[in-house]
Amino acid sequence: MQEVRRPSDLECAFYGGLFDATGSLRVSLNHGRFWQARVAIRHRASAARLREVYGGALAASGWEVKRYGAVACFLQDILPYVIEKHSLIEAVLARFSSRASVGDGAVLVADLARLRRVAVDGACLPQAGSRRCSWDGCTRAACSRGLCGRHYQQARLSGTLAVRRRRAARSFSYRRVPTQRELAYAGGFFDGCGSVRFVATRPQVAFARSHGGSLLHLWSIYGGSLSLRRNVERQQLIWRLTAREASIAFLRDVLPFVVEKREEVARVLAEFSPSKREEGSAADHPDEGRSDADLGTCT
Ligand SMILES: [Zn+2]
Repeated sequence: MQEVRRPSDLECAFYGGLFDATGSLRVSLNHGRFWQARVAIRHRASAARLREVYGGALAASGWEVKRYGAVACFLQDILPYVIEKHSLIEAVLARFSSRASVGDGAVLVADLARLRRVAVDGACLPQAGSRRCSWDGCTRAACSRGLCGRHYQQARLSGTLAVRRRRAARSFSYRRVPTQRELAYAGGFFDGCGSVRFVATRPQVAFARSHGGSLLHLWSIYGGSLSLRRNVERQQLIWRLTAREASIAFLRDVLPFVVEKREEVARVLAEFSPSKREEGSAADHPDEGRSDADLGTCT
């Protein structure tokens, strides 16, 4: 029998991110008695490798596996890293180990459906309430430089607002320094559902999810802006890295891990490499128009 290399911790973390982004875990009942779990990941670039390790089948959209042992093995491997679908996996693995059979399948199916219906709301936004205008006695929300709109104008007109040089404003620092596994997870998550596009010639990394877990985790590392958007079906949490340096730092961090979006990420990074930045702003870069058009379709 052919020897297959076990996935490393970083690879498992990558699959964890990928599973959170595009994976699904379904349980079906056979003849109302036996239940069967099915794992699917909609990511073509990783499908061959996943099949090599865990077996299963290549579907049109990616990879899927149904065999009892393979499903359990895959779920065990990624469990330490998964965030959004952690409780789903735990519920299925607990049922695997309990060996409960007749009748319990229906309970599990109901449990999973309940766990899947997690929606984000305003309560999950971490900065709500904490970012208030820093002007004495003002209680309005801050919108610029820690001041509300009125006090920002007031400070600007009176000249008391310290004007930072553009270059100084461009530095990036982590809110919390990430581990390699967190970066691998971020790579999988970005490869699965992230996007990078150009907004006013700046690269902007953005995610939209109807579950807040992973985005809040990434926000705790990179900062950026979180907002809610009402979609046709449900509320979505949007996480954006609005600062150019933050987007570049994120893309540089995930580059070693991403598969499907590797070319795209490498191209954005090449466009904004330090040597090019020294030459001047992105606006006078001759290739700017091209990359704008090319990358606009990738979002
Ligand atoms: Zn104010």
